[in-house]
Amino acid sequence: MSVADNLAKIEKQIEQACKTSGRSRNDITIIAVTKYVSTERAQEAVQAGLTHLGENRKEGLLEKYETIGVEADWHFIGTLQSRKVKDIVGQVSMIHSLDRKSLAKEINKRAPSPVPCFVQVNISEEESKHGLDASEVEGFIEMMSTYENVKIVGLMTMAPHTEDEEKLRGVFRQLRALRDRIRDKGYPHAPCEYLSMGMSNDYVLAIEEGATHIRLGSSLVGE
Ligand SMILES: *Cc1c(COP(=O)(O)O)cnc(C)c1O
Repeated sequence: MSVADNLAKIEKQIEQACKTSGRSRNDITIIAVTKYVSTERAQEAVQAGLTHLGENRKEGLLEKYETIGVEADWHFIGTLQSRKVKDIVGQVSMIHSLDRKSLAKEINKRAPSPVPCFVQVNISEEESKHGLDASEVEGFIEMMSTYENVKIVGLMTMAPHTEDEEKLRGVFRQLRALRDRIRDKGYPHAPCEYLSMGMSNDYVLAIEEGATHIRLGSSLVGE
């Protein structure tokens, strides 16, 4: 399947989800997650109009960046080791996986200007070991005001692998409620407007529950 064909199908689903939930298509950004595929396939995605690309490893990101460069906005979506921050901070538009103070400190030190970051939250606890517990998020974000090069633009989560629609919606709703609470505080360093949630198997539900950034790998560019 070409990326363009996959995208056409996905766009129909997105449109339907927007209709169901009374949302505007313009409020949703698709991030094409290219971690499984070649640079050529990532280029095909860019040609199909997907200008936001996501990678979860430094090596994959830099390899593709070499060819595609600023034609795309690059999103770092994986666990980020502090010592690798310096290698990617000049290339990425957004980091989706801020989950600890030491990482924020390193981003602050290495970035020439504020980096838009999502705080990764572990809503579904049992599945993933990554991300802060929901109860830790508000305190963590307050603390971020000391790092002038870290801008908290939203919250990110990975939902559990399940077909259980109500369980998935529950996870997305919890993240949204937390986002609303933080956004409403009006912190200058943490506008916290966005929700990075929804992957290939659950993006329709995520959109219905308020996702602004969906991260699609297998269904869009392939595995
Ligand atoms: C791999 C990955 C995705 C994409 O997953 P698919 O199920 O293939 O769409 C999204 N987010 C993160 C953090 C990932 O690591």
